Amino acid sequence: MSASDELFARALKRIPGGVNSPVRAFRSVGGTPFFTKAARGATLITAEGRELIDFVCTWGPAIHGHNHPRIKEAIAAALEEGTSFGTPNPYEVRMAELIHDFVPSIGKVRMCNSGTEATMSAIRLARGFTKRDKIIKFSGCYHGHSDSVLIKAGSGAMTHGHPDSAGIPEAFARETVVLPFNDAAAVDAAFAANPGGIAAVIVEPYPANVGLILPAPGFLAHLRRSCSSNGALLIFDEVMTGFRLAKGGVQEIEKIAPDLTALGKIIGGGLPVGAFGGRGEIMDQIAPLGPVYQAGTLSGNPLAMAAGIAALELLDETLPYERLDALGRQVRGALSGACRAKGLDAQVPQVGSMFCIFFTSAPVRDYASALTGDAKLFARFFHGCLDEGVYLPPSAYETAFISTAHEGAAIDRACEVMESAIRRL
Ligand SMILES: *Cc1c(COP(=O)(O)O)cnc(C)c1O
Repeated sequence: MSASDELFARALKRIPGGVNSPVRAFRSVGGTPFFTKAARGATLITAEGRELIDFVCTWGPAIHGHNHPRIKEAIAAALEEGTSFGTPNPYEVRMAELIHDFVPSIGKVRMCNSGTEATMSAIRLARGFTKRDKIIKFSGCYHGHSDSVLIKAGSGAMTHGHPDSAGIPEAFARETVVLPFNDAAAVDAAFAANPGGIAAVIVEPYPANVGLILPAPGFLAHLRRSCSSNGALLIFDEVMTGFRLAKGGVQEIEKIAPDLTALGKIIGGGLPVGAFGGRGEIMDQIAPLGPVYQAGTLSGNPLAMAAGIAALELLDETLPYERLDALGRQVRGALSGACRAKGLDAQVPQVGSMFCIFFTSAPVRDYASALTGDAKLFARFFHGCLDEGVYLPPSAYETAFISTAHEGAAIDRACEVMESAIRRL
């Protein structure tokens, strides 16, 4: 029995499913998960000492590679001064200023501990600010696991959502209108059907939790206009895309200013952090200034702030976005070339350091078309890569991430492995 198998057997006895977050369990690709004992640069080192080139990057945060010396030093220096104070601390001020510099639509920001908290609080704030109850979300977009947003597709543009999970009252789900991504007419119809009722539209501007989907030209601008003309707030969930595709996230690339933005992942430099922010007049509605309650014992934690500040400063100094995009294009070229050579239908969406592969002939523009991807074939591709030392997200409906540490030998080797795994399908 391998060290990982032994750990997993023990974990199964005391942890539901053996994992603390479900996708880690390998359910959708089969097999048992490996355990990681260390991570450096582009590499994970498993419990049995195998080295894997990692394209999960801890689900996005590790844009500078794992355990970057600069972030490690920042945490170590903060640790000397204490782990948590329960009072305001200087790091929080620096972090808030940095976030505003990077993302100018964020006039004021509140730190929290996860992406889930960030979107949950942004939605409560939007409801409190507009004094309306309903929100619009898009099927396939993931906004964390709070009740309002854990709802995917209704059967059509106008159907109300059904919870994706047991334990969510239908009455909560009725306040969430679920629409297909990239469908401007459905957005218009939902606003028309709920006059004065929609508090906010929440969207991953580049949806990346059902594989990677890009917005049709004009779709995000349409959302901006519809929200403004209907008195609803536009919330960009940039937990994944924030700081990854540009300093200012998708809103910088697409030149669209949302009213509120949710952040997470990279902003914690590998520690648990989330944040939400936006226009000052909206943000001033949260406690202690306003009636919308939001709080956190460990929010603005000094170690987490130190790690996140180091990660953001490093982005500011290195501006790695073009280099990362070149790596992304190299991977896309390798994957599409190998599929073409093999006569295999595939879509390989890529933007900057994010990519995925859908084994389908249909262009993927929303949740329904994403589901046409052949998940069984993906599982074989995944294991083909893993056998040769390349770790991709263990699901056909996740996005892979590249870090600056992949540059050079790692990316070349990984492309060879992925090409060979496709040849063997
Ligand atoms: C990961 C993610 C979340 C949830 O963040 P957690 O830190 O896992 O709670 C929310 N929205 C998007 C777009 C994400 O990718």
